[in-house]
Amino acid sequence: MNAQPKASHFVDGAYVEDTAGALIEVMYPATGEVIATLHEATPAVIEAALASAKRAQGAWAAMRPVERGRVLRRAADIIRVRGAELARLETLDTGKPIQETVVADWPSGADALEYFAGLAPTTTGETIPLGRDFVYTIREALGVCVGIGAWNYPSQIACWKSAPALAFGNAMVFKPSEVTPLGALKLAEIFIEAGLPAGLFNVVQGRGAVGGALVTDARVAKVSLTGSVPTGQKVYAAAAAGMRHVTMELGGKSPLIVFDDASLEDAVGAAMLANFYSAGQVCSNGTRVFVQKGIKERFLQRLAERSNAIVMGDPLDEATQMGPLVSKVQLDKVLAYVQGAVAQGARLVCGGAQGPKGGWFVQPTVFADVADGMTLACEEVFGPVMAVLDFESEAEVVARANDTQFGLAAGVFTADLTRAHRVIGALQAGTCWINAYNLTPVESPFGGVKASGVGRENGHAAVQHYTQIKSVYVGLGPVDAPY
Ligand code: NAD
Repeated sequence: MNAQPKASHFVDGAYVEDTAGALIEVMYPATGEVIATLHEATPAVIEAALASAKRAQGAWAAMRPVERGRVLRRAADIIRVRGAELARLETLDTGKPIQETVVADWPSGADALEYFAGLAPTTTGETIPLGRDFVYTIREALGVCVGIGAWNYPSQIACWKSAPALAFGNAMVFKPSEVTPLGALKLAEIFIEAGLPAGLFNVVQGRGAVGGALVTDARVAKVSLTGSVPTGQKVYAAAAAGMRHVTMELGGKSPLIVFDDASLEDAVGAAMLANFYSAGQVCSNGTRVFVQKGIKERFLQRLAERSNAIVMGDPLDEATQMGPLVSKVQLDKVLAYVQGAVAQGARLVCGGAQGPKGGWFVQPTVFADVADGMTLACEEVFGPVMAVLDFESEAEVVARANDTQFGLAAGVFTADLTRAHRVIGALQAGTCWINAYNLTPVESPFGGVKASGVGRENGHAAVQHYTQIKSVYVGLGPVDAPY
């Protein structure tokens, strides 16, 4: 299998290589085979990326929003036309099954490009009457933005960050995760084909230090990170030193609460989606599944039946429903959590072992009788490991659901409309679902509270994170000076 790009980086409209940078080997998670070899960005590559972004941004911001939008819409069209080829690359990069990458990853990126293409021309300032005088406001671009991605949705993340950045007149230098560096390079190619002027979307590869060099550069106005909480704390602090804007999309340990009166099949299906989609490597996953005692055993029985039927295997086979984890590091981490849960007394309902040989597979795994203090209930696993916890009353489950440093997402399953809204109102989470889970249409703002993040991606909410307001006071009368 070969997925070698033309070069490691994409700067100022072209592929760029600098073999002085440390090696990055890209492995196909289903086999461990090396499918591409890249180099980390050297200081010279980083400098070229930031300089060309800075150079290109002014003219782009000066264009009519409808013209900028047209470029983004063309990029969305190209992504859709090349859907099959891009999905295959995403599967090679991440190990996710092709049945997911065809419908979820690049398609949601195309949605973001289309959405912000339409939003840009309709985003305006306001006029504030002051009697004789008035104020008007302008929503201006921030300048050069840095995007730093995680490895779980590499192409979606690149699109979700670049679409609003570019739509509102910014440039973006994007650093993908070193684990999944391939998709962002394709996006850079597609933007050029769609007519984006060179320099406005540059891709530089590297590990944390390359991200660190971008975040602290004086030319950078904003940093948008998708990653873990510890990385978020470092990047937020580094950005703060330069008074830069930030968007932080970080981790979670989100509650999914299932009341006795919920539709059992729907709740089971949602809990599976909330833990097994992308082999559990989704930040907003509902990994603490609180099930009311009355339906607990029936819930666990259906969950085990349906989980045991999940088809694992070759991610390129359309019949495969679950692929491997992204890396050996992640495999070892997830297996350690499984062993820890057993040692701490959780009841293994299904799974718990490695999957098909040769790749970094873990079976869909469910633990019952998980207590709040167990590691499995407190830490983000980022693998297909569901923790089921029992509860009796609404007040109890709300308090327990909120007893975490995280606040990314939450879900409630119940037939009681009043209770659904009451519980969601009481949960400390930025992104919530009622009788659904993990649906993230671009129209809806996405992001977390507490340690899970700052700011929002998508929806109208993203406008304020990629623009700044200039207020202009217009005096229409004589200046009344006291001296
Ligand atoms: P990570 O924090 O290890 O790395 C994220 C990115 O930050 C990578 O590109 C990495 O190279 C870079 N980085 C690391 N140290 C840095 C530093 N000091 N300065 C600048 N950049 C640095 O996360 P990961 O393992 O790639 O991804 C998994 C995590 O991402 C999980 O915690 C998951 O919940 C989170 N995530 C959140 C969202 C969301 O939208 N909230 C979405 C996807 C993933």
